[in-house]
Amino acid sequence: MKVTEHIANRKGRTLFTLELLPPLKGENFESINQTIDPIIEFAPSFIDVTYHREEIVYKQREDGLLERRTIRKRPGTVGISAAIKFKYNIDVVPHLICGGFSREETENALIDLYFLGIHSLLLLRGDNAVGEKVFRPEKNGNAYAIDLVRQVIEMNKGNYMEEELLNPNPTDFCIGIAGYPEKHIEAPNLTTDLAHLKEKVDAGADYIVTQMFFDNAKFFAFEKACREAGINVPIIPGLKPMSVKSQLSVLPKTFSIDLPDDLVKAVEKCTDNQQVRQVGVEWAIAQSKELIKHGVPVLHFYSMGKSDNIRKIVKEVF
Ligand code: FAD
Repeated sequence: MKVTEHIANRKGRTLFTLELLPPLKGENFESINQTIDPIIEFAPSFIDVTYHREEIVYKQREDGLLERRTIRKRPGTVGISAAIKFKYNIDVVPHLICGGFSREETENALIDLYFLGIHSLLLLRGDNAVGEKVFRPEKNGNAYAIDLVRQVIEMNKGNYMEEELLNPNPTDFCIGIAGYPEKHIEAPNLTTDLAHLKEKVDAGADYIVTQMFFDNAKFFAFEKACREAGINVPIIPGLKPMSVKSQLSVLPKTFSIDLPDDLVKAVEKCTDNQQVRQVGVEWAIAQSKELIKHGVPVLHFYSMGKSDNIRKIVKEVF
């Protein structure tokens, strides 16, 4: 089932999904099992798999010229999504990004996904390449998430990049996009960011998943602003349990979000990261319960590859 079908069939219940990262090259599927196994008995409706571009550095050679070197690779999200789908008999939502990919590579990945029976996607621009101050699209690549949305919508109509392509079968992808309750870090203000979000929905996106937030009031205000702006697709809140003390500064800096006072005080009191993990779990349980009461369709848990804390949360709230 597609994400929109899960939502339509939920009968008032709130569902949940776990977002996981593909393992680094050199690791194996075991690390995926270790993330999913503790959660599976609580019946997530689907599993999100992130996509990451290669990490490139430029090293200065003796002759003074710069040499481009790839320092980090994550195995393909397409293959990992398929492996999860067939091993756990569960729906998967691979993320696809603009950064690092030409439109043709994206089209090929989409053809593979459709062939594998994977019909839900989360489409994103992707972050800047490591070391780059601004986002640079790949040559012949998509520049914004909306361009990726348009590419998939065209395929849904049977329009591929090559007009002469034989058997240009229309696909039927369900499209998710990202939204930012506290605005995207590069957006000049919330109103502009919301206008760009609306453009993505008007272009054909079916649902929104939000950036993490720690204060539900921010989500409720965002949802209200979306509805007032005429954005009527389902909005799925993204939740991340805090797990290490350094996140007090890393999360606001990386994601341009605010942490509520009470959470900051509770984390500051912790003497080790085990205690921080517990505070993070309790905070996320309280957030989840309130969001469920509010009637959100799905909770999207960011796992960052470890799910022991998410297990405690879903055990308590589902
Ligand atoms: P866009 O919608 O393209 O927006 C990017 C910025 O440009 C925003 O400031 C927006 O306001 C502005 N903008 C949009 N359209 C226009 C336009 N037409 N003209 C001018 N400005 C415009 N990153 C990964 O690399 N891999 C992942 O798997 C991944 N998963 C994610 C999952 C979720 C739920 C979320 C919330 C984020 C995820 N990210 C992931 C991070 C995401 O790629 C970054 O936040 C990225 O910086 C922006 O992506 P976007 O899709 O929101 O971009």
